[in-house]
Amino acid sequence: MGDTNHTAADTLHRRGLMFILSSPSGAGKTTLSKMLLAADQEIKLSVSVTTRAPRPGEINGVHYSFVSPEDFQRMVDEDDFYEWAEVFGHRYGTPKGAIRAALKEGQDFLFDIDWQGTQQLYQKDQQDVVRVFILPPSIEELHRRLKNRATDSAEVIAARMERARAEISHWDGYDYVIINDDVEVCFEKVHAILEAERMKRQRQTGLIPFVRELMA
Ligand code: 5GP
Repeated sequence: MGDTNHTAADTLHRRGLMFILSSPSGAGKTTLSKMLLAADQEIKLSVSVTTRAPRPGEINGVHYSFVSPEDFQRMVDEDDFYEWAEVFGHRYGTPKGAIRAALKEGQDFLFDIDWQGTQQLYQKDQQDVVRVFILPPSIEELHRRLKNRATDSAEVIAARMERARAEISHWDGYDYVIINDDVEVCFEKVHAILEAERMKRQRQTGLIPFVRELMA
């Protein structure tokens, strides 16, 4: 009987959630996203569409869908995006694709998007959105991390530092804020938030029949 109950509780239906990780470049968001996707089989990345060029190691369709400015504009015109924004002179957008239907089926999605995208997604779908902001431990550390990225030129680094300050100013538009001093500790916190949010009563649409059965 214990086994039966265990199975029932584990398979209770719930709505999926939209888990947004935002931070200035260099605060560790990409590393944290990778760790989360590797550790948790129930969440998958919402692959954004962008007009920027791939960085070394980035794969089309995995990290981003890389498109021309013309193709991006066509998608805007055809209302294919949940949200889109211009960042560093390039355009980035979240394709609607199958997200809505998959949320209903209980699929969780991870979004690596900036504050503009976060605001737009939240306005469209407050109940499903969980907003997490990652802060660097200091501006000096952020600068050091950006400099260590061999792929970017000095101008790009300077522009990113400028933008980092702007991004940080939006920290208060998030539900959770974590300072990324130690990436392992930070990851544990991010994962704990995800697990807790999954248990929110209003997401657990299978609870009513389950509790009815318990009371019978
Ligand atoms: P990067 O070029 O470093 O991959 O990303 C630059 C910025 O664009 C990051 O802050 C990232 O979160 C943001 N970004 C990536 N995809 C999207 C998206 O689909 N929508 C929005 N609004 N921002 C995005």
